[in-house]
Amino acid sequence: MELTPAYVGICGTDLHIFHGDMDARVHTPAVLGHEMSGRVVRVGPGVEGWHHGDRVTVMPLRWDGTCPACLSGHQHICRSLDFIGIDSPGATGGRCPPRCPAPARLTRACRSALRLAGRGRE
Ligand SMILES: [Zn+2]
Repeated sequence: MELTPAYVGICGTDLHIFHGDMDARVHTPAVLGHEMSGRVVRVGPGVEGWHHGDRVTVMPLRWDGTCPACLSGHQHICRSLDFIGIDSPGATGGRCPPRCPAPARLTRACRSALRLAGRGRE
């Protein structure tokens, strides 16, 4: 899916990146922004349950689902981990192409959280 960000958080990790503490991992120029919410603007083939305009928030991790870490339920330390906004472009660029690896599980929590975050703006 692709989304247009509505809100992008700047956290301590982003400040570490800005100050060069993560230069070994983050290559400049980088597009930061791993804490985001927004609206779906494109749904890819095979993705079900999402529609253009849906309000979402994103768990910014992509994992392969096949390595020993993933198979033992520790996707956050996947050997192929792609942390959006750190290992790949984030949401401050205006668009972010997150792929949600478990959309059914994440959908309820994301939509519920965004209703609270988006109150008053939309
Ligand atoms: Zn993995």
